[in-house]
Amino acid sequence: MMDEQQLNALDWDKVDGLMPVIVQDAVSAQVLMLGYVNQEALAATMESGNVTFYSRTKSRLWCKGETSGHFLKVVEITADCDKDTLLITANPIGPTCHLGNVSCFENTQQPAMTFIAHLEQFLAERKDADPSESYTAKLFSKGTKRISQKVGEEGVEVALAAMAKDREELICESADLIYHLTVLLQNEGVALEEVVNQLKSRHGKKAVRF
Ligand code: AMP
Ligand code: ZN
Ligand code: ZN
Ligand code: ZN
Repeated sequence: MMDEQQLNALDWDKVDGLMPVIVQDAVSAQVLMLGYVNQEALAATMESGNVTFYSRTKSRLWCKGETSGHFLKVVEITADCDKDTLLITANPIGPTCHLGNVSCFENTQQPAMTFIAHLEQFLAERKDADPSESYTAKLFSKGTKRISQKVGEEGVEVALAAMAKDREELICESADLIYHLTVLLQNEGVALEEVVNQLKSRHGKKAVRF
């Protein structure tokens, strides 16, 4: 996170007082949008914890979400190598794009790893779905015991596929396992992010968060 000293080191002259800001989802790493900040907007962003741009069309400070409620909650603010661009990782409250899309760059193909975060979200929404119309909703309706049993089964199938040197089967069974594990974790109120953070902490790298 930026401190006073790093803030002052930003190259405002080079960008004529208007610094481009890339906003990225702190969990999925998806690029959400690009906007601009002047020094006042950046101060407001840090003060409020909500990404606040300087709108060139509105010619004023624009707190993203001020009318829609779709705020971008700041996780971390960093500058690039030559201090003329900012990257803000954020937790979006609702869709970031005013067209209703998650990202303003909606045509981009999701990177494989960030897809998991989307899948988790998608599966979580199935909790309220009709069990007769969705396998995931049916799993949720059966509860901890049945979902745990499925995770156990799929784990064994992964092991068997590996032992059989069946690569295709190993991929299929691993997908089954990750799917069922994600459903189980959701059912137990655990986010995949918490599991990954556990892995990160074991790796000895601290994530700076507030
Ligand atoms: P909001 O800040 O979400 O309350 O939206 C207020 C207005 O800002 C919208 O009506 C749009 O005109 C504009 N706007 C909102 N989100 C975006 C975006 N991601 N990119 C460009 N313009 C936006
Ligand atoms: Zn740069
Ligand atoms: Zn947009
Ligand atoms: Zn299976």
